[in-house]
Amino acid sequence: MAKKPTKSHIKKIKSALEQEKEKLFHQVEELKKDDPFSDPDHASDNAAIDTDVREQVGHETIVAQIKSLQRRLADIDTALEKISKGKYGLCEKCGMSIPQARLKLIPEARWCVSCYQSLYK
Ligand SMILES: [Zn+2]
Repeated sequence: MAKKPTKSHIKKIKSALEQEKEKLFHQVEELKKDDPFSDPDHASDNAAIDTDVREQVGHETIVAQIKSLQRRLADIDTALEKISKGKYGLCEKCGMSIPQARLKLIPEARWCVSCYQSLYK
């Protein structure tokens, strides 16, 4: 039987998750600023085609980065919700305790290793 995280441990995790959330939010904001498509002059500029292509690629990279950050944000929200329900550290699929070593690495982990692997097979 795996040891359950203690209350003070949970408290630490919670503040770490909240800090991480803030950091990710900030990163998303920064990325949005870097997005060439967010430039209000973009639509009206008479840029050469190669500039347009570069902007398109830049835009797509940024969108992909934002998406992955937002996925992490959603996972962190889920983790925070689980903390408030007293279910933190339990796998969402099989209900088993997620090993501490894994939670240390990925505090917002939603599944145990074997469920995670079966999800992405
Ligand atoms: Zn599981």
